[in-house]
Amino acid sequence: MTNKRFRRNMLVAYHGGGYDGCIWEWNYAYFDKDGKFHDIYSTGYAGCETEEKLRAKLRNQPDEVELTNLNSERARNNFADTEGIRGVVGCATWFATNGYDVKLSPKCNGCGCRCNAVEGEPTGYRGVGGIEIHAQEIVCQECSSAYTCTGCNEYYGPDHKFVETEHLSHVCEYCVENEARKNDTRLLVVNDAGCGE
Ligand SMILES: [Zn+2]
Ligand SMILES: [Zn+2]
Repeated sequence: MTNKRFRRNMLVAYHGGGYDGCIWEWNYAYFDKDGKFHDIYSTGYAGCETEEKLRAKLRNQPDEVELTNLNSERARNNFADTEGIRGVVGCATWFATNGYDVKLSPKCNGCGCRCNAVEGEPTGYRGVGGIEIHAQEIVCQECSSAYTCTGCNEYYGPDHKFVETEHLSHVCEYCVENEARKNDTRLLVVNDAGCGE
């Protein structure tokens, strides 16, 4: 038996997925302020597209269901801190797109401040096979502009030493190397041309 219960304005994270073997992934559902069920993200045979299926899941595998009371800021922050960024951004985007005023604020990976998962700049986005997007970390817009190389647009974080050169401003060491190599090559060509041996 479980004392977990679905309530109004509640975010439900559960073990869904499962295509081959027994691989599962986090799926999400939402009970809005009127108690109406919404399927945010459901995948595989374990995905719950309907309220009935989700209720059965809670009955049979309560340990695979996690509930977040969205009325509580503490609970929302706990979800934002412990859930993978992909889930946080996915849910936050769903709420924003569907007109629900639910703020999820994960901590910025650069400065630790809480930023809006929708407006914040997620970095580390990587397309896998063009189907899924995985984000490893999220940074606020301030950190994004402070720690992104203006040359290659790569986000490096506060530990990277950015360089100012004659031609480049706020670039990473690789871009500086590249620039140097280009100049070297040019020099080399000039030297070659001038070399009569
Ligand atoms: Zn930041
Ligand atoms: Zn760069």
